[in-house]
Amino acid sequence: MSTSHTYFERELAALGKRLSQYFEESCRGEGRAIYQQPMAKIAEDLRLEHWIEAGQLQEGELDKFFESYLANTTRLHHPGYMAHQVATPEIRTSLGHLVDGFTNNPMNIYEMGPAASTIEYTIINWMLKEVGWEPRPWPDTLSMDTACGGGMLTHGGSLANLTAMLAARARAFPNAWTQGYQQRLVILAPGNNHYSIERAAGIMGLGTSALRLVPTDKDGRLKPDHIEAVYRKAVEAGEAPIALVSNACGTAAGLYDPLREVGEVCQSLGLWHHIDGAHGAGALVSSKHRHLMDGVELADSLTWDAHKLLATPSLCAAILVRDHRTLERNFQQEASYLFHDKDEPGFDFIARTIECTKSGMGLRLFLSLASMGREGLADHVDRLFELAQIAYEEVGQRSNFSSPVAPDCNILCFRYGDDDDLQLRLRKHLVREGRYYITSTLYQGRRYLRLALMNPRATRNDLVGMLQQIETLAETIN
Ligand SMILES: *Cc1c(COP(=O)(O)O)cnc(C)c1O
Repeated sequence: MSTSHTYFERELAALGKRLSQYFEESCRGEGRAIYQQPMAKIAEDLRLEHWIEAGQLQEGELDKFFESYLANTTRLHHPGYMAHQVATPEIRTSLGHLVDGFTNNPMNIYEMGPAASTIEYTIINWMLKEVGWEPRPWPDTLSMDTACGGGMLTHGGSLANLTAMLAARARAFPNAWTQGYQQRLVILAPGNNHYSIERAAGIMGLGTSALRLVPTDKDGRLKPDHIEAVYRKAVEAGEAPIALVSNACGTAAGLYDPLREVGEVCQSLGLWHHIDGAHGAGALVSSKHRHLMDGVELADSLTWDAHKLLATPSLCAAILVRDHRTLERNFQQEASYLFHDKDEPGFDFIARTIECTKSGMGLRLFLSLASMGREGLADHVDRLFELAQIAYEEVGQRSNFSSPVAPDCNILCFRYGDDDDLQLRLRKHLVREGRYYITSTLYQGRRYLRLALMNPRATRNDLVGMLQQIETLAETIN
């Protein structure tokens, strides 16, 4: 009789083979990028009820189960995958995810995951350096007197944005955490801010109506010279602006706000500048595209998702701050005890986070870096941005297609013809065929098709194939 660990080794070997096969098929463009069967059919194929009842899903049956599971996935390694801002992960990074799940070390307290905690600490320092902020020394010399950056990984950019808003509030109103607040607190942002900002305002009890919108230019980029007027108007109305949130980049068309100018205005007003770089902060690693993030170092906080541009599996998001003390104050008025109470080694992230149990996300980004190297990661970002340029060129060469604006990064809006509703119908048919998977978005009030080019293995041919298929569909469904 086998012991359980030999089962496990065999099951893991079988799974490894399956995943490699899945990866290779996907890369060759076999199967569909997207394939959506009805739920009831999937539940039947996977025999979900049977296995819940019977247990004993193992060995050959387990392998068959994974086969069916993989057959019902959206294939992010497929060159036709051009849809959401979720990384096509570098495959080795997925091993980090596996090991994290296997060891199940919730590293929010050091003693529950020394390796994972150390990696998160180190990865945050790597990110701080990429921004141009001072990394933290090792915890035994870190104190409330140390001037350096800070940060942590969170389960997603939305949570990172909320954490940033809490830090901004704590700086403006240190007592708000315990006493609440009497004044009307407001947040300044461009109209095309990510919906997680409005949610943060709702969650914090500011109310979703607490966003004060700063005008944008014709393409949707925030206009720095309008910030002060919006700020003054709020103050005159008795409101207390706690932060301004800028986009780097916005989700619809992937455009970056002029961060340096925004940062300078915010500094002159003493206003917290938070950059929502969930998608676009990955440009920091690219010498070619880093200019898009120029002025980032003037900000107070930055959200940066590795699971978007950095080839890392979800989730792995970071909230970074220029001054680590601003995070320490988030969940208490007096944070200094945190550094002195602990005579055991390590660093406990838990006092700084909304989450209690937290997975070892750092291993995912670490493996992305350690496997591809920083240069490899820069090439990855450059390739994704280049693909959007190629798509823009190809769109420009076709008379029925148009783009409203040239891409800053790897996101491109475009449309066939001029009818908003047609875009939705085209996408529906395209996705139903499944060879290409794209999304659609509202941009500046109009409906567009939208590409988020996350897969570095996609080529010009794939982009041309996608456009040709849209053209064919337009002729048949009209
Ligand atoms: C993706 C994104 C978010 C949300 O991040 P999650 O990791 O999906 O929670 C927030 N803001 C912007 C600009 C984004 O692109």
